[in-house]
Amino acid sequence: MYKPTIAVVGRPNVGKSTLFNRIIGERKAIVEDSPGVTRDRLYAAGDWLNYEFNVIDTGGIEIKDEPFQEQIKMQAEIAILESDVILMITNGREGVTEDDLFVARILQKSKKPVVLAVNKIDNFEMRNDIYEFYQLGLGDPYPVSGSHGLGLGDVLDEAVNHFKTLEMEEEMDTSIKVSLIGRPNVGKSSLINAILGEDRVIVSDIAGTTRDAIDTAYSYDGEEYTLIDTAGMRKKGKVYEATEKYSVLRANRAIERSDVVLMIINGEEGILEQDKRIAGLAHDEGRAVIIVVNKWDAVEKDDKTMKKFEDRVRNEFQFLDYAPIAFVSAITKSRLTTLFPMIRLVNDSHKKRVQSSTLNEVLVDSVSMNPTPTDKGRRLNIFYGTQVGVAPPTFVLFVNDVELMHFSYRRYLENQLRNAFDFTGTPIHIVSRKRN
Ligand code: GDP
Ligand code: GDP
Repeated sequence: MYKPTIAVVGRPNVGKSTLFNRIIGERKAIVEDSPGVTRDRLYAAGDWLNYEFNVIDTGGIEIKDEPFQEQIKMQAEIAILESDVILMITNGREGVTEDDLFVARILQKSKKPVVLAVNKIDNFEMRNDIYEFYQLGLGDPYPVSGSHGLGLGDVLDEAVNHFKTLEMEEEMDTSIKVSLIGRPNVGKSSLINAILGEDRVIVSDIAGTTRDAIDTAYSYDGEEYTLIDTAGMRKKGKVYEATEKYSVLRANRAIERSDVVLMIINGEEGILEQDKRIAGLAHDEGRAVIIVVNKWDAVEKDDKTMKKFEDRVRNEFQFLDYAPIAFVSAITKSRLTTLFPMIRLVNDSHKKRVQSSTLNEVLVDSVSMNPTPTDKGRRLNIFYGTQVGVAPPTFVLFVNDVELMHFSYRRYLENQLRNAFDFTGTPIHIVSRKRN
């Protein structure tokens, strides 16, 4: 399930975006009828030899009004924090520069594997130009040509080799991955600290792990959890937080690695446009979601306040109608203990399998209660349904004509499935397919 990430780093004009585009190929952004944001082009999916991964072009992350060296330093640091394998690009036509050495020194200090590519080696004769790059101390340099598409295979082979080690680590880790996402200052870090109290264990302190430094192991009621804090980088300096592109990327990464996403809202301020965008990301990725309204201690309340806020949440997050809502306070620790049973519940929903026989009984009953739609005299016929996947639960319905499955009817069937089985907190996907 875990999708590794490759980050592309290097100084400007060495060919990072050219290589990035080569690696991801001609992929188009997936258009869905949900309110999430379209993926930024600096973060995209790629694959090689049965491996699927994400690629980050750190060159696309810029901070305004910062000196050049600060920019490339930040990009290298983001690469170290956000990726599993770093692909450092240099320019074979210019040779090793001071800036290359500067970036290489930052990368050397990290434990992350680095693959070194020397770009703009457009023909065979130029291959001798790569040897001087050994002085970067990052292992064997690979000659590539982004514009001609040469040499990338060897580079990706090398990257994939590192994924294999990761995969083994991942298989051993069966904990439930939980991320806290939300705008700055909604209380993500405070919540993590309130939950962990004195028990805080930093996973990255364990020698040899390649995990993000911000992951924290936590155990509750006999179940193991990994908490992913999306606010981690801020401690190193305000500057990163200010970068909108980076916070979106960071939220994206955290969501992808999660089983359960806690969407944190500031109860004092209510729901803003940015909250909806962030929540949309979790929904689009098909993760289990709990909406957590924090700072509830600071809200002046009467007996209707909670209901009113809940109505507002439902109204603003219509696409998250399956997500339960928790009202908590990181400061008073009120109701924090309700979170873990809820996380377990939505995680179970997310991985739930239903038997085909039961599923088809529900479908038959649903159709008899509310007949399938017709179009120009033709009626939708559902022959059979089966669950083809979990996380999120995904169902395929075999039908006579997929065009006849209207959105409203699919919605009706989804509600019927939700009434029959407990899918609290998880989206479910229903796909219709023509039976041959
Ligand atoms: P970035 O700033 O590192 O993202 O670099 P770009 O991908 O924008 O490329 C910078 C320039 O180098 C562009 O003009 C590219 O066309 C050129 N370029 C990229 N790859 C190659 C290559 O393999 N060979 C040559 N000759 N030029 C390249
Ligand atoms: P983050 O940026 O989402 O990680 O937010 P922080 O955890 O840094 O919290 C931002 C501010 O909100 C801090 O000043 C916290 O003390 C405050 N805060 C966090 N949780 C609560 C809460 O439950 N109640 C109140 N009243 N303040 C809170």
